[in-house]
Amino acid sequence: MPRLFVAIPLPEDVRERLGLLAGGVPGERWVDSEKLHLTLRFVGEVDGGWAEDIMAALGGVTAKPFEVALAGVGHWGTRERATMIWAGVEKSPGLSHLQSKIESALVRLGLEPEGRKFSPHVTLARLSGSPCARVAKFIADHNLFRLPPFRIETFTLFSSFLSRGGAIYTPEVEYALLGS
Ligand code: ATP
Ligand code: MG
Repeated sequence: MPRLFVAIPLPEDVRERLGLLAGGVPGERWVDSEKLHLTLRFVGEVDGGWAEDIMAALGGVTAKPFEVALAGVGHWGTRERATMIWAGVEKSPGLSHLQSKIESALVRLGLEPEGRKFSPHVTLARLSGSPCARVAKFIADHNLFRLPPFRIETFTLFSSFLSRGGAIYTPEVEYALLGS
């Protein structure tokens, strides 16, 4: 059963810049820079027939290209036990529009709605037992982090194969955003 998610792969220069943030927090696993992405919708494990329907439904999503800018860093989890560190995404109506189109296409197909509000982010590191002072210092040190906006013209359906060395993502279908 493939494990699927829909995401925006990041341009190489953006991934390189994000990769420079890695380090300095003990107990963390930094995401390899080539794997950095912005998740639009986690689908999870589906059987083969569903995968084809999902591909077709995503093919019917229409949205225009848009710009996003990554800015700020933060963490999830509690202050005492942070679970991950992310880079933030500035408010982008185009991004919100695309995400809601994808969500409604998948719900129309019969997938369970994503119950949680869309919080766009790029996961930078997953943490286990990292000292909270070090996490707080990382976030304070990168408070002013911001990259120039870049244009998004495609989104991608990925499969994810969980392995001991970390998940292996494979782009399955790339979808173009059309119009100006
Ligand atoms: P691992 O789970 O082994 O740490 P991973 O999280 O990179 O690896 P997946 O779990 O397949 O790989 O996740 C693929 C993408 O979907 C990642 O961006 C992940 O953050 C996101 N994701 C995974 N599970 C969920 C979920 N339940 N809700 C929202 N996003 C999720
Ligand atoms: Mg995961």
